[in-house]
Amino acid sequence: MPELASSQTVEADIAILGGGIAALWTANILRKAGHGVVLLTNSDWGTGQTLAAQGVIHGGLKYALAGKLTDSSEALADMPGRWSLSLAGEGEVDLRGVTVLSPSQILWSLPSIASKAVAFFGSQTLRNRANPIPRKDHPAPFNTPDYRGQLFELGEMVVDPVSLVATLATPLNPFARKWTGSADWTIGTDGQVTDAIFPDQSGRHVTLRARHWILAAGAGNAALLRSMGRETPAMQLRPLHQVVIRSAKLPPLYSVCIGTGAKPPLVTTTHTASDGTPLWYVGGDLAETGVERSESAQIDFARARFRELLPWLDLSGAEWATIRVDRAEPHTGTGDRPPGAFVHRQGNVLTVWPTKLALAPNLASQVQALIGTTAGPASGTVAGLDTIDLPIPSVAKAPWDL
Ligand SMILES: Cc1cc2nc3c(=O)[nH]c(=O)nc-3n(C[C@H](O)[C@H](O)[C@H](O)COP(=O)(O)OP(=O)(O)OC[C@H]3O[C@@H](n4cnc5c(N)ncnc54)[C@H](O)[C@@H]3O)c2cc1C
Repeated sequence: MPELASSQTVEADIAILGGGIAALWTANILRKAGHGVVLLTNSDWGTGQTLAAQGVIHGGLKYALAGKLTDSSEALADMPGRWSLSLAGEGEVDLRGVTVLSPSQILWSLPSIASKAVAFFGSQTLRNRANPIPRKDHPAPFNTPDYRGQLFELGEMVVDPVSLVATLATPLNPFARKWTGSADWTIGTDGQVTDAIFPDQSGRHVTLRARHWILAAGAGNAALLRSMGRETPAMQLRPLHQVVIRSAKLPPLYSVCIGTGAKPPLVTTTHTASDGTPLWYVGGDLAETGVERSESAQIDFARARFRELLPWLDLSGAEWATIRVDRAEPHTGTGDRPPGAFVHRQGNVLTVWPTKLALAPNLASQVQALIGTTAGPASGTVAGLDTIDLPIPSVAKAPWDL
């Protein structure tokens, strides 16, 4: 670290490093419990995975598409209820400022598997989670005799990640700063981290002291751990290559396509760009297998897929683009998604990966259980933060807002 002019000390009960859903949700919960929380992020709020998310608050059904309920689907089962309470202002965090883009999603089956889908979604286990939509009520773009599959309404909502990030960040802004993302750490012989030392914009040297440290930096956790001289927990990155289709002609579509494999071929959500143009943001198997394709090959593939599955849809004049984003998670050894939100404790350092936006409430509960409810000596306050010269982060733009 270069020679710095003078020094400032900031003292918090808990320091959270990160600026996505994991940091934001957890910080709100811990502040509500009376902890003095400081947040440091290296970019604007939501950069990384959170604003790239499709906003689906999964209840786990997507992971049950292979035809049976799995660990992943069970870990997610409570989440829609906890989000709904928060959206109504009656839950653990106040999400009344969040836009619910759709209260449910449409499951649409390929015609070839319509009878299998009817049997599965109509089964006793899934009753009330996915209800058949009569043909006369089929919404666009399925309101045509050309569509010969079966539609179900899946009671899993889709939220707008931009308003979600803004709503969670607003009450935290007085306790948050944008930093360079790295520090010199003071680590005791007992492995406890006591201080982080880093420069502010005036070239002064800031010493941040905290009782607990939470690494909630998504893909940035690996570098933070390395800078502390730690190799565990190991991280895995699973890339996605999402597709964006922009056109004023697009109807709202929040849907999961059911194919023959365990993963849905297409997951489509609808968002609105800053200039008012609607866009479909498309993930699913298309985005997983698409990591091997170039941007133009991915667009060609997506065009062909839509022509094949929804040939009547008029996409003439639409603008196509792609977005590459890595999912950052604990290393599983198999390359698969871990079954639930992940929290690892070493001394007073917690490393966290929610693995799903929807699992943020579960993640925060795990953190709270490990930290306990006893707040530090100066309950709720962060001493010295106003004396350092670092900016308060703004909300970033969603990557599809091209
Ligand atoms: C394309 C895509 C679609 C998805 N769709 C859904 C969905 O519909 N539903 C769902 O439940 N989940 C979805 N997910 C998963 C979900 O987005 C992630 O699990 C979740 O957003 C991870 O949040 P996070 O806070 O851990 O990480 P991130 O959102 O990546 O945030 C990490 C933050 O830490 C900051 N940072 C990095 N390094 C440092 C540092 N050194 N110091 C401080 N800050 C640092 C970064 O700038 C970043 O803002 C999707 C993921 C992707 C990629």
